Amino acid sequence: MPDPDLATPTAVHLQQFEAQFKQLFEAAPDAVLVSDQTGRIVLVNAMVSRMFGYDPGELIGAPIEALVPERKRATHVADRAGYYHEPRSRYMGQGIELSALRKDGTEIDVEISLVPMELEEGTRLVVSAVRDISDRKRAERALREREELLSALLDSSPAVIYIKDATGRYLKANRRFQELVHLDSGTIVGKTDRELFNPARAAVFSLHDREVLSTGEAREFDEAAVGDDGERIYLSSKFPLRDAGGQSYALCGILTDITDRKHMEEALERQARDLERSNAELEQFAYVASHDLQEPLRMVASYAQLLARRYGGQLDDDGKDFIEFMVDGARRMQDLINALLAFSRVGTRGKPLVATDINAVVSDVLANLQTAINEADAEITVAKDMPTVNADTTQLGQVFQNLVSNALKFHAAPPPRVDISFQRLDSEVEFVVRDNGIGIEPQYAERIFLLFQRLHTKQDYPGTGIGLAICKKIIERHGGRIWVESTPGQGSAFHFTIPLRAGEGQSGQ
Ligand code: ADP
Repeated sequence: MPDPDLATPTAVHLQQFEAQFKQLFEAAPDAVLVSDQTGRIVLVNAMVSRMFGYDPGELIGAPIEALVPERKRATHVADRAGYYHEPRSRYMGQGIELSALRKDGTEIDVEISLVPMELEEGTRLVVSAVRDISDRKRAERALREREELLSALLDSSPAVIYIKDATGRYLKANRRFQELVHLDSGTIVGKTDRELFNPARAAVFSLHDREVLSTGEAREFDEAAVGDDGERIYLSSKFPLRDAGGQSYALCGILTDITDRKHMEEALERQARDLERSNAELEQFAYVASHDLQEPLRMVASYAQLLARRYGGQLDDDGKDFIEFMVDGARRMQDLINALLAFSRVGTRGKPLVATDINAVVSDVLANLQTAINEADAEITVAKDMPTVNADTTQLGQVFQNLVSNALKFHAAPPPRVDISFQRLDSEVEFVVRDNGIGIEPQYAERIFLLFQRLHTKQDYPGTGIGLAICKKIIERHGGRIWVESTPGQGSAFHFTIPLRAGEGQSGQ
């Protein structure tokens, strides 16, 4: 029994088929135009009128170029591609993108598929299936514009900027990045760091990338890369790009060249270390030297005294004077050595900084100096409610003691007046010890803080010139500053600051 489906179609079948085919033709989502050999339109479906804005009747007989001015090019392209004469299945759907013209003169983007048809007696028709792709084109154009804007933005930045996908492949590399690696964007995009840099560096980069992508948090790293003039160091800030659902799908990196800054920091650190070392060495030297000098000096002094006692009678006046000069010299040297020892102990014997009540410190100092105060008949005033600061209590007492005793020592016409005050600043407290003494010429304002620098002879004012040097060293150890403001003949004001945060990295708590 023959299969009815495979039976040869009868004329009735063909009529039915034609009717259905016509329906299909009319309902097709594409505009379908059939043109003859001369390019004149012979048949159109309903979609053509809708797409191009004509009445169906208007189009019959019109040249197809009226709708698709570039149709010849489409035919040509189709020809060149070789599918114009191929079995239909090959070229169906392989559209050519062109622009088409509507009746109202507006242009639309279309995709045309051409299907040639051989009819009997060599009649040739061409079926053009036209699809409106304006929306897609518009979206593509908008995307391209956005891409161009992004590139322009990235390229005009002086920083090195790139975007990688979650697997580490470059999606974008701005101009500075391209200059850095001497590769163009086309070569970089799609590659990973392993393909662009040496394995050790690439490993570091991707370690950093992974951290940012896994934590989802922006971070900064120091990354090194080889530039034209050797290795450069970059501050590399990396942050994830997230999709609408908050998922990290890419990573953006911005590199700023900090080589010069880094070198400067390193040089500074080196200098600070050198300075610290040489300071420590100097301190050690001063300590050892002064310590070891004491013994021979004591010997000189005691034998000179012995000489005076035993043989004084046999010496004339000059001889006695000479011995006295010798003893005096030895004593002075002893004072200097003691001063030097005290100076070197500021660094070596310093105690941790602890909360120190300045009221107590100052009242102790005044008690120590009571005799001198009484002798000078001095008038001392102290601000009420002095603060508590973080300090080495003994050393800060030493500072107040040196300043107050100088104020008593370098007094002018009596009565000497000394005033101790303070003011709180943002991050420090400033103390002032003010006197009405002889004052200091401005050109000596810095020098007096140096070791053994004095402005007077021993005869005028006793002293070794170490007091202010010790004060300066102590204050600097606390992270503060010390300076003098003075009007010669009227008095001096010694100012010093103590930071509210501990100096020397010692919290003392
Ligand atoms: P010393 O008091 O042993 O001379 P200092 O280092 O304490 O050493 O002081 C250095 C010099 O600074 C003093 O010799 C003096 O010339 C000057 N000086 C210090 N304090 C005062 C003051 N309150 N008024 C005037 N001059 C001062």
